[in-house]
Amino acid sequence: MTGITLALSKGRIFSETLPLLAAAGIVPDEEPEISRKLVIESNRPDVRFVIVRASDVPTYVQYGAADLGVAGKDVLIEHGGMGLYQPLDLDIARCRMMVAAPEGFDYANAVRQGARLKVATKYIRTAREHFAAKGVHVDLIKLYGSMELAPLVGLSDAIVDLVSSGATLKANRLLAVEHIMDISSRLIVNQAALKLKHPLLQPIIDAFRSVVEKNVC
Ligand code: ATP
Ligand code: MG
Repeated sequence: MTGITLALSKGRIFSETLPLLAAAGIVPDEEPEISRKLVIESNRPDVRFVIVRASDVPTYVQYGAADLGVAGKDVLIEHGGMGLYQPLDLDIARCRMMVAAPEGFDYANAVRQGARLKVATKYIRTAREHFAAKGVHVDLIKLYGSMELAPLVGLSDAIVDLVSSGATLKANRLLAVEHIMDISSRLIVNQAALKLKHPLLQPIIDAFRSVVEKNVC
């Protein structure tokens, strides 16, 4: 059994995972934002990090290029979760998945009338399931970022996006019109690694769990 590799994205997931890692006695050697390195060693010779895009974390863990990682529920739903064991909701990087529309657009009325809506989003699967469950007809338009722009330039009637403070919606004169789900990030583990590297992985999972449980109480 060699060491273990943890996949993290830089930014909020990296910084909010640091306290959990500290509880497991793991301290990364460098800050990805500063060092620009994609592979980061730690205080433990058997633990290293790979820094990847948030939406790529499940893929690295699924194929075993990383043994474990931290990914948002939004990203996990889009990925599908194949090959992943999800032992813990870490309750970090919390936000909400919402439908938002321009201030002047009567979304509720459009839905009541059975109108066909154009919805722009990065979260095609989540959006498809949400509107299908509500019986709303939608044409989904895939974007990779800055969804708030789409309704302003007539690309869509509404968007599905993550909202935390609501400041970005407000700055673009959009209103959140429907709550789809609460989002937080989860610990994900490669299913095969969990068996093969159990003695290395289980103490980390346990340490993360102890922090999460302490925060809840
Ligand atoms: P990229 O910036 O590389 O396009 P991303 O926007 O998905 O990817 P982050 O902004 O680091 O990357 O978000 C990582 C995760 O944090 C998301 O998958 C989501 O679960 C959560 N998240 C996104 N936006 C917020 C927010 N405003 N507040 C809290 N958590 C958020
Ligand atoms: Mg982002």
